[in-house]
Amino acid sequence: MESANHLNQQEYGAIERAPLPRNMIENSMFEEEPDVVDLAKESPSYHIDSDDVTYEPRSSRLLVRGLGENDMDEDEEDYESSARLLGMSFMNRSSSQRSAASSYTRQQPSNSCSPLSTKTTAVGVLILVLVVSMFMVIYFVPSCTFTKKGCQKSNSSMSSIYPISTSGELFPWTDLRLPVSVHPVHYNISLHPDLNSMTFQGNVSIVVLVVHETKNIVLHSSDMNIIKVTFDDKEYRFLEYKPWQQIAIKFPEDLKKGQYVLKFSYKANLSNSYDGFYNSSYVDTAGTKRVLAATQFEPLAARKAFPCFDEPAFKSTFVVKMTREAKYISLSNMPKIKTTDLNENGLQEDEFESSVKMSTYLVAFIVAEFSSHSKNVSKTTVSVYAVPDKKDQVHYALETACKLLKFYNTFFEIEYPLSKLDLVAIPDFLAGAMENWGLITFRETTLLVGNQSSRFDKQLVTSVIAHELAHQWFGNLVTMRWWNDLWLNEGFATYMQYMSIENVFPDLDIDIEFLNVRFKALAKDALNSSHPVSTFVSTPEQVEEMFDSVSYEKGASILLMLNATLRDGEFHKGVIEYLQNYNLSNTESKDLWNSLSQVSKQSLNVSEMMNTWTVHKGFPLVTVKRNGPQVTLSQEHFLLNAENGTDDSLWHIPLTYVNDSCSVLRSCKQVFHLKDKEATLQLPGQVKWLKFNFRSDGFYIVHYDEQGWSDLISALKVDVNVLPSEDKAALINNIFALSRLGKVSFRQVLNLMDYIRNETETAPLTEALSQLGQIYRLLDKRSDLNLASSMTTYIESHFGSLMESQSWEVETSVSKMTLRSALLETACALNRPNCTTQARRLFDQWLASNKTLQIPSDLMRTVFKVAAKTDEGWSKLLGSYKHSIYDTEKRKMLEALASTQDVRKIIWVLQKSLDGSEIQNQEFPLVIHTVCRDFAGYLYAWDFMKENWEKITQKFPIGSFAIQSIITSTTSQFSTKTHLAEVQNFFSSLGAKGSQMRIVQEAIETIKHNMRWMEKNLNTLQSWL
Ligand SMILES: [Zn+2]
Repeated sequence: MESANHLNQQEYGAIERAPLPRNMIENSMFEEEPDVVDLAKESPSYHIDSDDVTYEPRSSRLLVRGLGENDMDEDEEDYESSARLLGMSFMNRSSSQRSAASSYTRQQPSNSCSPLSTKTTAVGVLILVLVVSMFMVIYFVPSCTFTKKGCQKSNSSMSSIYPISTSGELFPWTDLRLPVSVHPVHYNISLHPDLNSMTFQGNVSIVVLVVHETKNIVLHSSDMNIIKVTFDDKEYRFLEYKPWQQIAIKFPEDLKKGQYVLKFSYKANLSNSYDGFYNSSYVDTAGTKRVLAATQFEPLAARKAFPCFDEPAFKSTFVVKMTREAKYISLSNMPKIKTTDLNENGLQEDEFESSVKMSTYLVAFIVAEFSSHSKNVSKTTVSVYAVPDKKDQVHYALETACKLLKFYNTFFEIEYPLSKLDLVAIPDFLAGAMENWGLITFRETTLLVGNQSSRFDKQLVTSVIAHELAHQWFGNLVTMRWWNDLWLNEGFATYMQYMSIENVFPDLDIDIEFLNVRFKALAKDALNSSHPVSTFVSTPEQVEEMFDSVSYEKGASILLMLNATLRDGEFHKGVIEYLQNYNLSNTESKDLWNSLSQVSKQSLNVSEMMNTWTVHKGFPLVTVKRNGPQVTLSQEHFLLNAENGTDDSLWHIPLTYVNDSCSVLRSCKQVFHLKDKEATLQLPGQVKWLKFNFRSDGFYIVHYDEQGWSDLISALKVDVNVLPSEDKAALINNIFALSRLGKVSFRQVLNLMDYIRNETETAPLTEALSQLGQIYRLLDKRSDLNLASSMTTYIESHFGSLMESQSWEVETSVSKMTLRSALLETACALNRPNCTTQARRLFDQWLASNKTLQIPSDLMRTVFKVAAKTDEGWSKLLGSYKHSIYDTEKRKMLEALASTQDVRKIIWVLQKSLDGSEIQNQEFPLVIHTVCRDFAGYLYAWDFMKENWEKITQKFPIGSFAIQSIITSTTSQFSTKTHLAEVQNFFSSLGAKGSQMRIVQEAIETIKHNMRWMEKNLNTLQSWL
């Protein structure tokens, strides 16, 4: 899946400023908002505190039962079953909550010797009675069913506590993970969606293989009304345990090993959220409302469309049949083999070929009125589908998909196995895109390209297509065994997307984007609330949360580091080896490392090195101290809030470096493997300076001693081209990070920044703007107007001449467009007269020409944002937004509409995007993000989010990247004690509805960090700026 986070990818560095004086924001909602003064008065009781909550391991002991990972001893089990019978909730899923709210924690002494109170004794007797009853119940139930290995294990009689199913009977399974005694082999799925009533009927027959004798079959099902269940043509009752979305069929006798057929008939509603089999609608250019039904199953929603064994390791084949009205078409993973007239009200049934062996989350089907264009590549027909109004916008995607398919077919040395590949633009779609095998679904913005679009817009579409196509191998052909290794799918697809584009579309300058992504991953991973790349997950919320920056961006970053370390195409060979070894099966991280180790002729132990990057959270800070030719290198965990003492994580770092005699060419690179806490590097001769982490290929931050920094800064001031642009951008990124950590003074930061006046390259300039922009926004949000205006002056003095020299004409280089858009967006946000005049001129010309005279697409957002500052401009933009059929353009209009400083308009935009009426619901996270960038919006957005939490989480699942983005946008610019308390209180009040999310910990940590940074630097900033 492609998360939608990157959709703001081109938003480097730009700074917006609230043009209104604070007192003009008249709305009373701000009256109660405390300013920076008088913050210490309140001392609310904090319910959540990142310091207090043991957030990891994120494992519930209860939930890993049966996995053999964490066997309990019997006393504990008794205690636990008693607790259960006394009414303690199974659904207390978070380990943190459990330790606070219930007594059956790991540490709980099971036979404590403390004196018993009467009450305790009474409870104890009750427990005893209940335990005995429990024993009696369990005695008559086959115990072997409850182990992972089915009935192989014969003596685990007391190993389980049964949840109560919907009917009141005990549910015969005790784990979120399914038993492995029964495997699905093949599914026949017949569906009939009714797009008038928004319901569907389904018949599913599953050929299952009993591999261990068992009396139960347990599988997933959610939000459906099952009418009939048969097993080998005999009807059975079923039990349902809704909290775990599981159903079970109990048999009186053990099922013998062998193959059987399990059938379900059911009815359900087409989902109103963005997952499962969901309904979507749009209004066509003639003003008619059109409806469609599409699927989004990853990670856990196939179970909402049909009963299934919904875990990635249960791969099977699928035949899909779809009944529809004649005006619609239907699509599924495989090519259609026939259409039958059903003669019932003109209905038709499409039948699709049997699929390759695949995981349930990759199954997909769509019923809609779409048009397409196709082309052949090798044995595959590639087609791009869109709503008929937009059928002319599919050509770029079609050409691009064909080129990339050819590239991957050759690169992986395994041909794409299906005879068709459809790419479909869905009008309302939450993720960026989803890699369903043979039927990839996209947002319209990530697939459709109008005639007027520039390379700047094409970069995004190309990236998303490259990512999803890479998944056809990484993810679809070879799949992670469980969601803990999601990075194997997402890290790899992200890495391949950049690598393939560099090869196939070098003029898209994708390297700048990839560098930016690595910086983003470092920022996230510097927090204590981060997690290892490979992390234990069990609950649905934990699975959702894996779709984050660590799985995608850190995953891709460590693969780049590995590829840069291996020689002679060993990485490429290892990847081919891995795909061939595990074709159509499931893997864990170690399988990838083993494949790479096998092909590597170096002495390098890939598994040993890479394990240090996947099992520890965070990344190392490498400190370089030089004494003549002797260089002392040391490593420590780079942790922004190192409050809990030191941690002794050690990484195997393939440390690269260059020096003044050779610093630009790739051949200059030297490598030193730092595995210990400290090591010494002996230089062969005299060097003036050293720069570590060449081209920023490695996932670590480097700190030099005072002389080391001075030498580098002096060298840059003498010759700006002494280092490649990635290295210069990394120096800027690292020095800001180090100042946050307190390792360098802000004076030192500004000293480096002085070189920037001579800089012309995109990567260092946009990184500098982005870093300064972050500080500016914090100052602005604290209403620290003097400092914010000093920062403005500073930015103008360093970037002003570059801002003035930018052209407003059509540009073709992506790198230049990226730089220009960042500079001019900042310039206009700072109200530089030349910028706003030019922007207004372009907007007026555009309106006067009835939108035929195009605004260069990289400048469109800047131009629209300036236009949206007036009432008239805003209304005209809104009109254009409603009528435009070009989604890339629409999105820029929406960002401009949401950037308004008029509170009434802000409220309107937030409400319309949440109810999905005039602004698509999928854009809500973007709207919140944009609103929060400015002073007027950010306080209101936080209140809006709190008030509408229930509604928001109905649309966007808890833990999902949409929710992650909404929380980050609304909280990351708080830097006061009052706001910290507010955020803590709000999230702790949510209980199971969100308090345990990792992103909440991250938000709290970020606010605390902002507070500390302000405390430390506010005074000194005043004298420095
Ligand atoms: Zn993906």
